[in-house]
Amino acid sequence: MTAPQHPYTHPALTAADPELAALVGAEERLQAETLRLIPSENYVSAAVLEASGTVLQNKYSEGYPGRRYYEGQQNIDQVETLAVERAKAVFGVEHANVQPYSGSPANLAVHLAFAEPGDTVMGMALPMGGHLTHGWGVSATGKWFRGVQYGVRHDTGLIDFDEVRELALKERPKVIFCGGTALPRTIDFAAFGEIAREAGAVLVADIAHIAGLVAGGAHPSPVPHVDVISTTTHKTLRGPRGAMLMSREEHAKALDKAVFPGLQGGPHNQTTAAIAVALREASQPSFRDYAHAVVANAKALAEALLARGFDLVSGGTDNHLILMDLTPKQVPGKIAAKALDRAGLVVNYNTVPYDTRKPFDPSGIRIGTPSLTSRGLAPEHMTLVADWIDRGVAAAGKGDEQALAAVRAEVGDLLGAFPAPGLPV
Ligand SMILES: *Cc1c(COP(=O)(O)O)cnc(C)c1O
Repeated sequence: MTAPQHPYTHPALTAADPELAALVGAEERLQAETLRLIPSENYVSAAVLEASGTVLQNKYSEGYPGRRYYEGQQNIDQVETLAVERAKAVFGVEHANVQPYSGSPANLAVHLAFAEPGDTVMGMALPMGGHLTHGWGVSATGKWFRGVQYGVRHDTGLIDFDEVRELALKERPKVIFCGGTALPRTIDFAAFGEIAREAGAVLVADIAHIAGLVAGGAHPSPVPHVDVISTTTHKTLRGPRGAMLMSREEHAKALDKAVFPGLQGGPHNQTTAAIAVALREASQPSFRDYAHAVVANAKALAEALLARGFDLVSGGTDNHLILMDLTPKQVPGKIAAKALDRAGLVVNYNTVPYDTRKPFDPSGIRIGTPSLTSRGLAPEHMTLVADWIDRGVAAAGKGDEQALAAVRAEVGDLLGAFPAPGLPV
């Protein structure tokens, strides 16, 4: 008998479409050989990958378990029920909808559930660290609804709750979003809860970035303070690309109706299955260790960057994310990000609050520790990572390609000892 084939050699794909298979192989190498520092990314487990590539993909299942518009749902109903029950247990909520295709449609569904077109919604401004889908102008949520925005204080980089309260009481939004994409600090859900109650608004915690930290007990839970929780499943939660909406029972009907038939047709059952697997993983003790390690790594990395003279928005981090203002280093964010990429350090350029540069060429870069933590890197490695970033940014300023190549070689050497989950070794 021959040895079983490695599950990630993609034999059928290689035979049917070698061109595409070669691109997948190249991406596997890229993810293996680079230090991925984008805070919204991760490595899913082999089990999550396998679940998302199953024949569940072949089914149409409009509706919800037990109430479908299609026959043949004997297994699919159980798959979705498993995902829902696991979400309820992991996050401690009364209701979960696992069908939103991704975070953006999940947030549009929230608008659909609690506001009419033209109604006021409130969220954090995109350049301050909020998300497009919290009523920002270029998004459908800002075109069809009247978005009003709060920010962070110029001096502290922290949310100013006096400003939030004043704005909420003046504008009386139907919905208030808290949470964002470039927030390095703990979100004070209790403070938002008080303001939302005072203003008579539905409060939504968008925990897309921090869901894994919440599940693993490394960030306070929004559950006691908010009406609705919106989250992606593919960031710190380490599941497939997808999303969930969670709430108390009282909002269950409105959310379910908004997702289907309000916004979507058939759910992506292969994704639902992979979400169920990810949630099972998130309920294990090892996931708590991972979530706390993500934060410990970010704090160690922030310390090491501060020691090298980097300017961090809000002065550091409480979570998985660090936002760096490179103005004092005199290197624009985009030039730094592109140079770091050549050095094997994958980051994204980002605006910083009160940025004087343009969004497509901003002052900052955003980094995070979920992916490197999933590979097993620990706080003792973070001085090395900070050193690589420091050398990379300095080399970017001088156009020193040799220095970038030297960092890239060192990155490759270290990562060889830390194989990534889900990738061929
Ligand atoms: C990533 C993110 C989203 C959107 O998720 P997509 O799956 O990319 O549509 C929404 N809200 C927040 C806060 C996010 O970070």
